[in-house]
Amino acid sequence: MQKEINKGLIYNGCVFTEEEALTAIAKWQRRLRLADWHIYFAFKRRHDMLLDGQAEIKWEVRRKTAVMNLLDPIDYCADHVQKQDHECSIVHELLHLHFASIHEKTDELGELIEEQAINAISEALVALSREVEQLKERTEATLESTTS
Ligand SMILES: [Zn+2]
Repeated sequence: MQKEINKGLIYNGCVFTEEEALTAIAKWQRRLRLADWHIYFAFKRRHDMLLDGQAEIKWEVRRKTAVMNLLDPIDYCADHVQKQDHECSIVHELLHLHFASIHEKTDELGELIEEQAINAISEALVALSREVEQLKERTEATLESTTS
């Protein structure tokens, strides 16, 4: 029998409020050394998005400014393989800023490789972050049960 080894931490999904999204963007900007970028953020309905994805980012490298849009959960396809995960989308879109300077100079193959690398890195980072949070919670619960 085949087990779904990836089910759990990362595929539980994560839908943010606007305030939670802003907090997550600031947190991941610091972690990814992108704190000097000014990021404008909004939830967008599907028909207001430029691309057919869960999130998008447009940037201006010289000014270090970017506009990040996350798909409004109301438009997320219910039969999608993965649950909507705003945190993964935020990390994914922020990672694009590291490649922004070379993005315009690359070809189709380069863009595909960039996209696949960013997908793998963003999912790994978010999974690790959630594992650390779970370990912290378990450790605190264990400490509480042993001290009371
Ligand atoms: Zn991307």
